[in-house]
Amino acid sequence: MKKLNLISLAVVVALAGCSDDDDKSSTKTLTVENTLAVGSEQCVNGGTETLTGADSNDNGELDSAEVTDSTVSCNAPATSLTASQLAPLTDNDWFKSAQVKVATSEENIAAVVKESGKAKNVILFVGDGMGISTVTAARIMAGQLEGKLGEEHQLSFEKLPFSGFAKTYNVDAQTPDSAGTMTAMASGVKTDAGVIGVDENIERGNCATVAGNELVTATELAEIAGKSTGIVSTARITHATPAATYAKSADRNWEDVSDMPEAAVAAGCEDIASQLVNFEANLEARYEGLDVDGLEVVMGGGRRHFLPKDAAYNSADAVSSVEGDRTDGRDLTAEWKAKYPAGQYVMDQAGFDAINADTTERVFGLFNETHMQYEADRANDVAGEPSLSEMTAKAIDVLDNNDKGFFLTVEAGRIDHAHHAGNAYNALSDTVELSKAVQVALDKTSIEDTLIIVTADHSHVFTIAGYPKRGNPILGKVVPVGSDEPSLAADNMPYTTVGYTNGGGFRDLGDETDADVGYDFAPVTGRVDLTDVDTTTPGFHQEAVVPLGSETHAAEDVGVYAVGPGAHLVTGTNEQSLIFHVMDYAADLVKQADAKLAQ
Ligand SMILES: [Zn+2]
Repeated sequence: MKKLNLISLAVVVALAGCSDDDDKSSTKTLTVENTLAVGSEQCVNGGTETLTGADSNDNGELDSAEVTDSTVSCNAPATSLTASQLAPLTDNDWFKSAQVKVATSEENIAAVVKESGKAKNVILFVGDGMGISTVTAARIMAGQLEGKLGEEHQLSFEKLPFSGFAKTYNVDAQTPDSAGTMTAMASGVKTDAGVIGVDENIERGNCATVAGNELVTATELAEIAGKSTGIVSTARITHATPAATYAKSADRNWEDVSDMPEAAVAAGCEDIASQLVNFEANLEARYEGLDVDGLEVVMGGGRRHFLPKDAAYNSADAVSSVEGDRTDGRDLTAEWKAKYPAGQYVMDQAGFDAINADTTERVFGLFNETHMQYEADRANDVAGEPSLSEMTAKAIDVLDNNDKGFFLTVEAGRIDHAHHAGNAYNALSDTVELSKAVQVALDKTSIEDTLIIVTADHSHVFTIAGYPKRGNPILGKVVPVGSDEPSLAADNMPYTTVGYTNGGGFRDLGDETDADVGYDFAPVTGRVDLTDVDTTTPGFHQEAVVPLGSETHAAEDVGVYAVGPGAHLVTGTNEQSLIFHVMDYAADLVKQADAKLAQ
């Protein structure tokens, strides 16, 4: 109504002006254009508002009361992006590095070999207990050791072009153990917890149920196919993960004859150490007319399971007064030497260093009475022992003397043990050492003919928590963004970034580099005031919520990282048993072994 009145008034004024030209200046019509901002109510993409009206009060401006017409013209949506509009993105380092990564990934996919059997060599790395949180924390630790903030760092295997997830549960267990998980990876069949190289029809601990349920492993197939074969671990070489590559056992704990129930021995079941030394003969006995040459490389710990329980057999590296455990009097190291007179048995760093990999056809290294040392604790070994990366280098140098290629399994066995002891320092240090070992393998082989897979058997209840600021020491207390003082919990005490859901909990052992010393103390219940504790020392054990004698595995998926022929099949979330099938596709293990047996 008001607007209509104004219009009629303006018309009246204009008419009056026309009829009286000697009068003072006539009333002018004014037009004003206002720019509308992007995102405005009238125009989401911006535009122009045009206001018109007569300057009835003659002040030279179009007052709001004088507006008689208003039109809005909106901008059309953009049909292209200009460089200046994109500048905040394209000049940004995060944006630029991701663009490079996309281009690299396209190249990797274009280079995929869509044909089986192109991998002459296969190397399977297993970080025992190396869950996703362990990889993340180890990446930060490795970066911080190099003087970076840490979070942006990448471990060697995180740079591999293909990756996926493995579901780790055992057939009978939601949260798995290493025996069932490594059997799945080594044989392509998921099975029960606690059993080695046998399927789910086994009854754990019952020797009689082994026969007929034995699985065939990738190591055995490679051996039959004529490839060189090797097993390296920082754990006892009879421990679950390495054992699943060569042994069949109703119980992972049957590492030597003294660990077995008498009934199982009487029923003819063979202990795991004995199966390692008899690998060649046992494999030949299973296939008529088969002639293989046995494992070329075996390196790890666990000497006690190979020696008689008699101090006379102690090595210079012995820790216990009687090093050997075997109650059947057998010295399996002597048996191995008798079987392989051209091979080299070594038990310390000097013996290891003396191996000429170009001329040595076979190596049996037992560097510790039990597990090898944690990497951070390696200098404390009695007679000295090699690192995981040194063993990996030597193993490849010995194995690659075969024109038919090789199959090598490398386990970083002690990541798991440090977590069980509730000591993140050693778990992360051993993960960083695994990263070095993978880099050694990448440097010594070609992605043209070698499939390398890096994964874990299972995770641990290890978390990275709170809101620490960027670059905060990964083993430190949580210091929030914008502060130099630790965050305080509801109990007014600081807390660490990394911790455990369960386990032995807090220990402040300072410079102690052996995580297992933590077992000398009872589990700690409840919170501890860490105000005056240096949580970044090797001997600090993180707090745990649920007190247990030993921290436990966790059930979430683990990462699988791959490069080389067949690596593109490592994608998505899959049963852990898929890993065997990727290795088989890459190297035609079953096909080649079958062809050999048909000869
Ligand atoms: Zn474990």
